[in-house]
Amino acid sequence: MAAPGENLRINSDRLWDSLMEMAKIGPGIAGGNNRQTVTDEDGEGRHLFKRWCEAAGLEMGVDEMGTMFARREGTDPSLPPVYVGSHLDTQPTGGKYDGVLGVLGGLEVVRSLNDLGIKTKHPIVVTNWTNEEGSRFAPAMMASGVFAGVLDQADVYAHTDKAGKKFGEELERIGWKGTEKVGDRKIHAFFELHIEQGPILEDEDIDIGVVTHGQGLKWLQVTLTGKEAHTGSTPMPKRRNAGLGMARVIELVHEIAMDYQPDAVGAVGHMEVFPNSRNIIAGRTVFTIDIRSPEKEVLDAMDGRIREGIDTICEALDIQYKIEQVGAFDPVTFDAGCVKAIRDAAERLGYSHRNLVSGAGHDACWINRVAPTAMVMCPCVDGLSHNEAEEISKEWASAGADVLFHAVVETAVIVE
Ligand SMILES: [Zn+2]
Repeated sequence: MAAPGENLRINSDRLWDSLMEMAKIGPGIAGGNNRQTVTDEDGEGRHLFKRWCEAAGLEMGVDEMGTMFARREGTDPSLPPVYVGSHLDTQPTGGKYDGVLGVLGGLEVVRSLNDLGIKTKHPIVVTNWTNEEGSRFAPAMMASGVFAGVLDQADVYAHTDKAGKKFGEELERIGWKGTEKVGDRKIHAFFELHIEQGPILEDEDIDIGVVTHGQGLKWLQVTLTGKEAHTGSTPMPKRRNAGLGMARVIELVHEIAMDYQPDAVGAVGHMEVFPNSRNIIAGRTVFTIDIRSPEKEVLDAMDGRIREGIDTICEALDIQYKIEQVGAFDPVTFDAGCVKAIRDAAERLGYSHRNLVSGAGHDACWINRVAPTAMVMCPCVDGLSHNEAEEISKEWASAGADVLFHAVVETAVIVE
């Protein structure tokens, strides 16, 4: 298949201007964005995106989850399209680029093809997945999850926000509940451009992250039960200290994660101590262990060692334990062909690149289950994301979009 010429580039100014224009909708209080899913602001952002798509000659389809699909016809309309996109919704205190870059980068791919008069055999569809963030309505990656058959549509419609409003009703209220059945589309390949949301690319001064895997995760909620007793008058050998048990488990989780470098991570972020009083030895602690790895075997091995370790720790301290798995997500291995298309594009364009594992979840992680998928990442300042101070440079954005452009166009096959 013909690769696009190495001097083909997207229009960097237009991409940046579009990002800034979208950021005016649902401004945050500190320079970022608050454009949470199925709010009025989300509706307004969708209208702007739709206007831009129509001006670029694309035809808009909307499914029952509100996901937007803007299609540029191929010379063979019977072929399955190449999909490209991400999400326009943000965290309540979100940035201007998380998700948005992937959607508007996809739009820029199509605008550039129009400028250059390039036709592709496969249609290209620019996509805005509904509710990627999951902050207003859990879970995250909701619409792509329903699309991939992982989540149940009727079930997520009934999910409520803090004010008790239902997702399905809010989607309808903002006017973006489409009629197309979710998951009916055939996808030739899906490409998602996203900011890294981590510090590696910037630290190493690298333009492009070629995402080969997505981290799998397990959340283990642990309850340790010892005995509440006076901190002053209880002799040390008599104590059954659930706080000490928790401390040892936290240390253990850290050590085990360190044994599986460079990719595994582990921490305890949620901790509760009972009765949480200065002069009472903690009788009970409840905390959640979060472990992640791109390899299922590693994740299972970490899980096994943690359970063994907790048993040993608790026996030594004469306390009881209970372990519940309260969350799990299998690691993702992205499609070798799509990953290669991204790496080849970076190479051809002369951008420095390295392989990355995505630590966060993305729509691409679900779509990878139903279609060949891969992700491109660009650096972000200090690795900061889910924060209004999230920042990228115009050069980083356009390098990422250039790579996206080449990968998408090569996969959609240029018509000579
Ligand atoms: Zn995102």
